[in-house]
Amino acid sequence: MAERQRVHRYNYPAQFPDIDGLLESFREVLLDGRYILSPEVDAFESALADFVGTNHAVGVNSGTDAVILTLQALGVSPGDEVITVTNSFHATALAPVRVGAVPVLVDCDLDTMLMNPAQVEAAVTSRTRAVAVVHLFGQAVDMAPLLELCRRRGLFLIEDCAQAIGAVSGGQLVGSIGDAGCWSFAPSKNLAAAGDGGAITTNDRELDANLRRLRHFGQEGQNDHRVLGYNSRLDTLQALVLQQKLPMVRRWNRERVAIAELYRKRLSHLPITFQEGAAEGGHVYHLFQARVPSRDDLLEHLRSRGVDAIVRYPVPIHLQPAFESLGHKKGDLPNAEQLADETLCLPIRPDLPADSVAYICDSVESFFSEHRRAG
Ligand SMILES: *Cc1c(COP(=O)(O)O)cnc(C)c1O
Repeated sequence: MAERQRVHRYNYPAQFPDIDGLLESFREVLLDGRYILSPEVDAFESALADFVGTNHAVGVNSGTDAVILTLQALGVSPGDEVITVTNSFHATALAPVRVGAVPVLVDCDLDTMLMNPAQVEAAVTSRTRAVAVVHLFGQAVDMAPLLELCRRRGLFLIEDCAQAIGAVSGGQLVGSIGDAGCWSFAPSKNLAAAGDGGAITTNDRELDANLRRLRHFGQEGQNDHRVLGYNSRLDTLQALVLQQKLPMVRRWNRERVAIAELYRKRLSHLPITFQEGAAEGGHVYHLFQARVPSRDDLLEHLRSRGVDAIVRYPVPIHLQPAFESLGHKKGDLPNAEQLADETLCLPIRPDLPADSVAYICDSVESFFSEHRRAG
């Protein structure tokens, strides 16, 4: 077997197509002073809207704020319920709480690892105002049944696209299907700022105007405060980073998909399952999930061989202490709990060399051959 390698999950320096050009544009902005709400931010918003295929995009300072501001801008308020899924990053469920609403958590399917549409339908009550889907790990949720449900029941449909830029559902890019797409550009995402950043995409002109007001203290103009807003704007410097990286996203996603295909092929003879159900273009592999009952042992084995594997997410939202007030207990949402126990992420990033992928696959194989001998 090959020599021990160190395989990292991230390689941020590899993500700058033209670092010198970027630094030059930083220099210009730094000396000019247009740090917020600048033409550079406008330009990135237009580029993002073009990419996603919406009429509008509004930059904010994080993905979490993108969801919070969207809910508030849509008028979701105390007493309302927002249905979302328990296996996600917890920001999706936190956002309703921040506007005084109640997150109603549903389970996922074991094979797709995504929100189960039948459970969403069953969770709708007279207080439900919105459904927040999460295109988790880079795989698009099948939006057609949820769109139909939300239209029929008069609910807003929000897409958490933080992990899925470029993914497609029913031939349409995520973030352009529901009432709003919420984006995070945190450093680990497929499109990443050099720090925090986020955005909302929408075709709704009124929503766009409300969001622009909310992100800027709720003001219409200086000293004209119509509503209670936030200070949540995308900085010029982050917009410049994102503007330079956005044209690379399609290629980077293709590279992620190619690595995922390698993993699936090389590991297909082993007792491992993967995230299934994506149609062509439906997965951009923000994370590559491998599911094995002996997850903790495999994780330790990979770590000991220098492979930077991790667990996303080891505790589903409904079992987190912060959400205790929702009154859930172990066993309530069993599929998410099982995935929390049985999945780990193998490193995936656009520039991951083929020999590193081979090394990781060898390492996974050696785990199973050693296990078989031990057993
Ligand atoms: C990253 C992420 C968020 C939050 O984004 P931030 O920019 O870190 O606030 C929300 N939802 C999902 C699914 C995420 O992965």
